[in-house]
Amino acid sequence: MANLILILGDQLSHHLSALEGADKDNDLVVMAEVHSEASYTNHHKKKLVFVFSAMRHFADALEEDGWRVHYQRYHPDNPAQSIEQVIAELAREYQPERVITTECGEWRLHEQISRWHKTLGIPVEIRPDTRFVCNIDEFARWAEGRKQLRMEFFYREMRKKTGLLMTSEGQPEGGQWNFDTDNRKQWAGKPPAPAPFREEPDAITTEVIELVNEYFSEHFGTTENFHYAVTAEQAQEALAHFVDFALPCFGDYQDAISDNEDWLFHSILSPYLNTGLLDPMEVCEEAVRAWHGGRAPLNAVEGFVRQIIGWREFVRGIYWLLMPGYARENRLGNSRELPWFYWTGDTKMRCMHKAIDATARNAYAHHIQRLMVTGNFALLAGVKPEAICDWYLAVYIDAFDWVELPNTLGMVMHADGGYLGSKPYAASGKYIQRMSDHCQNCHYRVQDATGDRACPFNSLYWHVIDRHREDFANNPRMTMMYRNWDKQKPERRKALRARADWVLANIETL
Ligand SMILES: Cc1cc2nc3c(=O)[nH]c(=O)nc-3n(C[C@H](O)[C@H](O)[C@H](O)COP(=O)(O)OP(=O)(O)OC[C@H]3O[C@@H](n4cnc5c(N)ncnc54)[C@H](O)[C@@H]3O)c2cc1C
Ligand code: SF4
Repeated sequence: MANLILILGDQLSHHLSALEGADKDNDLVVMAEVHSEASYTNHHKKKLVFVFSAMRHFADALEEDGWRVHYQRYHPDNPAQSIEQVIAELAREYQPERVITTECGEWRLHEQISRWHKTLGIPVEIRPDTRFVCNIDEFARWAEGRKQLRMEFFYREMRKKTGLLMTSEGQPEGGQWNFDTDNRKQWAGKPPAPAPFREEPDAITTEVIELVNEYFSEHFGTTENFHYAVTAEQAQEALAHFVDFALPCFGDYQDAISDNEDWLFHSILSPYLNTGLLDPMEVCEEAVRAWHGGRAPLNAVEGFVRQIIGWREFVRGIYWLLMPGYARENRLGNSRELPWFYWTGDTKMRCMHKAIDATARNAYAHHIQRLMVTGNFALLAGVKPEAICDWYLAVYIDAFDWVELPNTLGMVMHADGGYLGSKPYAASGKYIQRMSDHCQNCHYRVQDATGDRACPFNSLYWHVIDRHREDFANNPRMTMMYRNWDKQKPERRKALRARADWVLANIETL
């Protein structure tokens, strides 16, 4: 036996660096469904089904391709219930030369694996994850010496590096780097949103659904109506479906929220990108081809490419630059527990109910629901970052620490003091009213900030401005908010504070 090659559940790519140069006849690929990874948070049942089923399909594909694979299926009685125990068992049995793996997506596991040479007495080779456009060292070099890190500048570097949407003279296509100002349309039902891509469960997925229902019945969400792709080929079909049906409108309605459409024009590709079933560059190139072919406008394609080579790469860079201290950041000093309705959806706030209900059914909510509804509420209510981060990590099918943490702790909760966003994304009900049709179906009145039926977002918005004056008042992008707050009559400010205090004291009843 030469080497053990460890492949984790989010590394399902035939081009994985750990497989490079390996010896198919002698090396042993190791994949394992283990209790410690499946239950360190309350993972949504659909997320467990997706990851286990995609792992099983990938292991089969490797075997068909001539690899020797040791695959541990989940069972609560398995003697090895963590990745470390699986490797320790196999190391005893096979006496390998070393363990080869690719950088994992989580500090916790990275720490463990980095110590295996001591704890298990086996040499471990951790290879860079080449599935990203920007590697960890390159990001650190870019960040060095900068007072503030801004995604927009990083994104331009990535455009130049990849050549995506660049002219032969090295200029951005269309004469602009960013077409975001074109991308803020409300959506009133037209054009109709396409049905999402569906893949019906095959025998492997059906077996995994039964397993998850049996052993993870206490976990959040449902396995019902599982329709995600679970192989690279199916994920390619999902990509083609997006490009044909949703990409043309992706830009225009990127910020819209709907009372009766869960998916709108989003790609729903994050689960596949984050587990290796799709390659980010191939996805972007497919979108750019659609623009060249006149099948999608530039504002849509640029917006989509920016999310992938801009935001996605940027948050990963920040994660590895600032961990492990980053996870403990709480610069706004928040201490509130997560309201229980985040788990049940049982709230009269229509926008929150709809976002949480979609999350429970689909293990998915689109970016604006995550940022401006459930995230915004947590920021306004002062929920402690670790509680809301744990929720996002649990409930979404695409949630892995490297991408979930910076988005939640940095972008949503502003708990890092502004590393990720130059200003907090705090917004009143007015924003949700402008971008959605929720408010007309809500128990609360969006036009009111005080009174029994006043939209809770409104008074909480002023409360956060008021209580964090020291944190925010010197931010030039917040000056206007403080001017507006200060020019309100003292009685009005008093009434807003009183309503917000009531909302916070009775948060579980909202
Ligand atoms: C609080 C919060 C938590 C989030 N947690 C996650 C998470 O755990 N995993 C995750 O992949 N994304 C996360 N995001 C980012 C974003 O919401 C999701 O990537 C997106 O909703 C996935 O759906 P989609 O594939 O339809 O995306 P689209 O809207 O179609 O966007 C295209 C792709 O761009 C990438 N992308 C877009 N925005 C971001 C972003 N801010 N950060 C990283 N990638 C981005 C994704 O890969 C996505 O598939 C989070 C955002 C917020 C505000
Ligand atoms: S009124 Fe307020 S709580 Fe109700 S849907 Fe609108 S923003 Fe949400």
